Amino acid sequence: MANPERPEVLAYVALGANLGDARASVRAAMQGVAALPQTRNIACSSLYRTAPFEAAGPDFINAVVAVSTRLTAPELLLNLQRLENGAGRERAYRNAPRTLDLDILLYGDARITGPTLQVPHPRMGERAFVLVPLAEIAPDKVSSAQLQAVASQEIERLV
Ligand code: ATP
Ligand code: CA
Ligand code: CA
Repeated sequence: MANPERPEVLAYVALGANLGDARASVRAAMQGVAALPQTRNIACSSLYRTAPFEAAGPDFINAVVAVSTRLTAPELLLNLQRLENGAGRERAYRNAPRTLDLDILLYGDARITGPTLQVPHPRMGERAFVLVPLAEIAPDKVSSAQLQAVASQEIERLV
């Protein structure tokens, strides 16, 4: 039931995987995010393929989803981490290949600078694999200057 204490917030979540069946992992994670408690799906980007960026291993499959959620940002992060763990995520070392990575890009207009959660995601502006799918579903959230800044990074939309 709708809880008036908890406003619905439009949040954007980035998905990435580059181990195992990465397409299947990202597709399953899109459904997993949409099925989180007090959360409904608003939009899913296409899947994209990108070469690893400051990272090792096979190509990544990336996507961005928009959800409307009554979860707080820390609750959303916790739920995303559960989905990552359910997909067999291990944190071997920084930027290690991963079965599933789920990052909160935006949570409404919130600016969060805690030790375990920073929103907007501090590195989203450097990453074509975030900005391009985000621009697909939320063109007002990404400027052409931002896209220009990552234009040298190769990214392929999968059909
Ligand atoms: P990057 O953050 O550069 O994309 P990463 O996704 O590989 O790197 P992880 O190992 O997945 O990094 O996450 C490290 C920590 O980042 C998490 O434990 C989490 O507490 C923290 N974190 C901070 N801000 C966010 C955010 N907006 N979304 C997801 N995790 C975040
Ligand atoms: Ca990440
Ligand atoms: Ca992450």
